[in-house]
Amino acid sequence: MLEYIRESMSTPGIYYLNNDIPVWTEDPLSDTVNLKQVLEHIEKLVPSAFLKYVQAVRIGMFDEMIERSVNALYKDGVLYITNVQDNNQDIIDDMVHEISHAVEQNNAEIIYDDGTIQQEFIGKRKRLYNLLKSEGFDVIIEQFLKPEYDEDFDMFLFQDIGYPVLSTIADGLFLSPYSITSINEYFAIGFESFYIDKSPYLKRMCPQLYNKIEYLDEMTNEY
Ligand SMILES: [Zn+2]
Repeated sequence: MLEYIRESMSTPGIYYLNNDIPVWTEDPLSDTVNLKQVLEHIEKLVPSAFLKYVQAVRIGMFDEMIERSVNALYKDGVLYITNVQDNNQDIIDDMVHEISHAVEQNNAEIIYDDGTIQQEFIGKRKRLYNLLKSEGFDVIIEQFLKPEYDEDFDMFLFQDIGYPVLSTIADGLFLSPYSITSINEYFAIGFESFYIDKSPYLKRMCPQLYNKIEYLDEMTNEY
């Protein structure tokens, strides 16, 4: 019986997200994940208008993910997701995160051109700079003022300071330490929160980001 369940949980072959986006595994997916349920859940969570930016979902261990030490990425319309997952929620988080990058890249003008998100993000970065400085960290202000991803800054945040310390110091400013990395991750973590945990903190803590995601969400109703 157990064998039967295992088999049915990870049946190979092509699945479809939203009835038209092919999803397949290239390396064995953890048998704690039920891909069919995962896709059904994502269809409920995320407006289908956002899925039009995704042409395919490939699950496996891909070189670029290993090089960049990430679990997932969105590139040229394809979502690449690691096959090593704890459970359904784990892979749902990864997929919604990457869908957010798809939405972001395809709506960059709407999201970023008025500068409201950048202003909110840089304001938070400056506050973080002051907090870290007062804690005695050797911080460089220029690094905090650059909204784009920067490898050295990333290393500084997550290796020199570390996630546990950051999540304590940045509590109340950022939803998660990963949001600090770049304006793009700031958006992505907000999007995840908006659609997955629907935490009231997003609206309270990051009102501009919340407004923008809500605006995008309302736009999907017009399709
Ligand atoms: Zn990301």
